[in-house]
Amino acid sequence: MRPARALIDLQALRHNYQLAREVTGAKALAVIKADAYGHGAVRCAQALEAEADGFAVACIEEALELRAAGIRAPILLLEGFFEADELPLIVEHDFWCVVHSLWQLDAIEQATLAKPIQVWLKLDTGMHRVGLHPSEYQSAYQRLQASGKVAKIVLMSHFARADELDSLRSVEQVAVFLAARDDLSAEVSLRNSPAILGWPSVPSDWVRPGLMLYGATPFEQDHPLAARLQPVMTVESKVICVRELPAGEPVGYGAKFITPKPMRIGVVAMGYADGYPRHAPTGTPVLVAGQRSQLLGRVSMDMLCIDLTDVPDAGLGSTVELWGKNILASELAEKAETIPYQIFCNLKRVPRLYSGS
Ligand SMILES: *Cc1c(COP(=O)(O)O)cnc(C)c1O
Repeated sequence: MRPARALIDLQALRHNYQLAREVTGAKALAVIKADAYGHGAVRCAQALEAEADGFAVACIEEALELRAAGIRAPILLLEGFFEADELPLIVEHDFWCVVHSLWQLDAIEQATLAKPIQVWLKLDTGMHRVGLHPSEYQSAYQRLQASGKVAKIVLMSHFARADELDSLRSVEQVAVFLAARDDLSAEVSLRNSPAILGWPSVPSDWVRPGLMLYGATPFEQDHPLAARLQPVMTVESKVICVRELPAGEPVGYGAKFITPKPMRIGVVAMGYADGYPRHAPTGTPVLVAGQRSQLLGRVSMDMLCIDLTDVPDAGLGSTVELWGKNILASELAEKAETIPYQIFCNLKRVPRLYSGS
């Protein structure tokens, strides 16, 4: 059997969820869209359900998968419905529904609903992706109230730059939100992971932790709260071939690495088809036989090469951690010029093994 695998530590997931609650004192929707950022949405939801206030996913297809697996907790659809014909299913399964555009508001007004739904009314406070314009917000709220089709409304918005702790943009977005909310007394939800960890004064009755649940920091710099996160996913494989090369020999496709001296090289069963970033350069850290070493040359589809020259304990069959508890996904992401979100979401082909459930 191919030795590549992803170990998923559900105890760490619960720890990180509790941290989101503890630092905010708020209710927390565990964001498990995109198959829980590659960690497996059903298993993660099952591990959290006893304590979670609810879950959030990107679309009804993801929400239905959770209900089919027996998850009874509230589930928020972060983009609401994409077509009005999803509304009967939203009612049937008690999904909570973001309304981010006027066409969705029109559709709710026109629909015949068997019972009222819970709406999270999204305001565009400056990210300019989705969300109602501040000038539309009060009237949208009144229309939902008047429609008789809505049981409860939560007011929400989303930050564009909360990971940049020296940017004032999040403060400006909060000011836009507070002005548009004016005297509406509904509950509020503003904070994603970087805002939970980095912006303590931002109001939020409900927080929406995603990345932090999986134990990765959203920040480029060190942060005391991010240091308390526990990585959930560890991706490892094994050395399947060892070779001794003299100086001056190329390694891998395109001869992008040439041995500067005699070297011992290990080939690892892991490649970009597993989600390891193809753009990770020579020098990207790996852990082999418990010791830090480095990637050499180009990443192939199913294999990659690492340096064993200074790791005498390592050899055929040695375990290699590509990212996880020792090689942080954020560190790998930085080397590969991407973000830990994408490292997690790209995981594929590798079987996931769960512990701590
Ligand atoms: C994905 C998402 C989140 C979670 O963001 P993280 O940065 O992963 O914490 C929160 N809110 C909305 C609306 C999202 O789409």
